[in-house]
Amino acid sequence: MFVKGSIDELAIFSGPSLFNDFKSTSSLYQPELSRFLQYSKTFFDSQHYTNNGPNTRLLEQRLAEFHQVKYCIAFSSGFWAIALTMKELALTGKTEVLMPSFTYRRMADITAWVGLKPRFCEVSADTLAVTYETMKPYINQQTALILGMHPIVNCCDVMGLQQLGKEHHIPVMFDAVESMYEAIAEGKIGSFGNAECFSLHASKLLNGAEGGYVTTNDEALASALRLKRSYGFAGQDNCIMEGGLNAKLNELHATMALANLDELPLLVAANKSNYELYRHLLSNVKGIRLLQFDECYQTSYKTIVVEFTDDWPFSRDETVSFLNAERILARSYYSPALHQKKMLYPVCDAELPLTDYLSKRFALLPCGDFVNKDDISTVVTFLRFLSDNAKQIKAQQLVWGKP
Ligand SMILES: *Cc1c(COP(=O)(O)O)cnc(C)c1O
Repeated sequence: MFVKGSIDELAIFSGPSLFNDFKSTSSLYQPELSRFLQYSKTFFDSQHYTNNGPNTRLLEQRLAEFHQVKYCIAFSSGFWAIALTMKELALTGKTEVLMPSFTYRRMADITAWVGLKPRFCEVSADTLAVTYETMKPYINQQTALILGMHPIVNCCDVMGLQQLGKEHHIPVMFDAVESMYEAIAEGKIGSFGNAECFSLHASKLLNGAEGGYVTTNDEALASALRLKRSYGFAGQDNCIMEGGLNAKLNELHATMALANLDELPLLVAANKSNYELYRHLLSNVKGIRLLQFDECYQTSYKTIVVEFTDDWPFSRDETVSFLNAERILARSYYSPALHQKKMLYPVCDAELPLTDYLSKRFALLPCGDFVNKDDISTVVTFLRFLSDNAKQIKAQQLVWGKP
């Protein structure tokens, strides 16, 4: 229920917040406890808690089927799935990983951790993602790897990036964390490039509390990653690979992920109906454009992303702060972009005017398991209230000072 009589009741002007509990943009889906316990019995009874346990193996098998790919290798986090794959695939003697700047906040850190340098490139304004055309100009003698990052809504130019890699003999990997459920005309995400990486963090579509995995059709890569994640051990006291570390997924996390994998269709159905409600309600709010999911192929409808267009009376950052004050945990979309931040490690210089422009315009609205239809209606009514009272709010802000 929306309850703001006048702008004095806005939380930024010290009114009471709209919600008592926070409305987040994370998925945070919880499976049936009975299902979790049922899967738990497997590892509990066998007392096999980690080191390639039964549920980890079952999860890998089921995810390989899900993504229609030969191999799936599970890790303790998305971070290690990405870092080890990057290290394994990067061309020896080359230094740069080609990636968008308008992307996941920690991507440059992961690259630096691997000892490589991010080379940031532009994205397409239509998809907010990298394409053949946006990446090609940045290929150079030092390019070790092409990193295709899927955007939060829909997919990047998968076939274009594969083509680019082929033309220049450079490996291609995808960070497919945001596209775990998606498909394109050519097939399920998970089977493209040299490898694709995913996260099982609680905030992602498939909640394993923590965890990650890699999918690939390359047997040699799959074996190398399996060795690397467990100190390079091939059997007891038989270390056959240097540079390994412990990045194994344990059975508790595999169990959580398995239980959630069974319920994924339920989560997606709920996401879809929430998305449809947002689309309906936002269609008559001037200045806000909802990013639409491509429904031709499979999609998760996971995250609600909107653009604040030139017709919207406030900046994106101002709007996010109004919402946050009401306990609506809207977040800016990948902002600041990576090239706009000061890094402690070397990155390649970049001038990316389109990314600069785009990085000020988009935000995520509440979604996931904690958000119901009333919440969505309240959020959209609140946005309309902001717009209807923009003049007064701006006048009041002059008195109060901007947030
Ligand atoms: C969350 C996320 C990661 C990292 O995954 P963790 O499991 O949290 O380490 C990588 N890439 C993207 C796009 C993400 O959203």
